[in-house]
Amino acid sequence: MSEIQPVTDFPSRPRLLARGITRRCAWCGDRKAYFVGWFRRQDRCRRCGHAYRRGDEAFELGAITANIILTFGTILLTILVMVAVTAPDVPVLGTVIVTAGVALIGPALFYPISFTLWQAVDLWMRRPTPAELAGETDATL
Ligand SMILES: [Zn+2]
Repeated sequence: MSEIQPVTDFPSRPRLLARGITRRCAWCGDRKAYFVGWFRRQDRCRRCGHAYRRGDEAFELGAITANIILTFGTILLTILVMVAVTAPDVPVLGTVIVTAGVALIGPALFYPISFTLWQAVDLWMRRPTPAELAGETDATL
């Protein structure tokens, strides 16, 4: 088991989002971040020890919202691509079937990304406390 390495440098906002959308810890950029499997997560980043909740008990609500936005955005993109590729004879049944598949797979596919992305948005909106910036990992529970 590796030792936790607190990160005291705070990344820029674009970097936060880029890390979040690529399933990395928004704070330290580590690829392992909070997930030990696709659906199994732990409370702290395995590298920097940053707790994703940051004292907010409703963190998962934001992550679910991020998942819904990502899934709906993918559904919309799928419909637009299907219509653009097949116009003017759009196969309605085929479009519905493909879109339904995206709607079923999307939430599972975006599950870990929704957490890391919401962590990035949370860090964007609620700037880190001085204790968090000092690397005190216990201050972020
Ligand atoms: Zn981290």
